[in-house]
Amino acid sequence: MNAPAPTLIRETFPVGPLQCNCTIIGDPITKKAIVVDPGGNHELILARLEALGLKVVSIIHTHAHLDHFLASGQLKEKTGATLHLHKEDQFLWDNLEMQCQMFRVPYTPVPSPDRWLEDEEELACGCGVALHTPGHTPGSMSFWFA
Ligand SMILES: [Zn+2]
Repeated sequence: MNAPAPTLIRETFPVGPLQCNCTIIGDPITKKAIVVDPGGNHELILARLEALGLKVVSIIHTHAHLDHFLASGQLKEKTGATLHLHKEDQFLWDNLEMQCQMFRVPYTPVPSPDRWLEDEEELACGCGVALHTPGHTPGSMSFWFA
């Protein structure tokens, strides 16, 4: 299905008020990157991207609990990267303000996703594949890389 992938750059670190794991996946040749679950601290994520010499082209989400996308809007605004989510989690994305109130977390508005993730779609870099794995939420996704 996919050509053999070069060794990817991968970095995972906790972000935001609930310390969600955010992951940067980068292609060492094209320098394109995906950010997974930017749950806060957009300045930290931008600093890591810069240090790694990567340009983020898409921001993808395993699901739409607040701690996985609190910084998505800020990251999109600063980089122009697009936002992606499975459609079955739209109801959670649309209720971010209520989720923040429940957890007493400051609310930062996030724009709507640019496009819905589909099961088995190829990701923007690194020959990754999105897989619909409902359970934790109806729209939960897993991301597979060779
Ligand atoms: Zn969750």
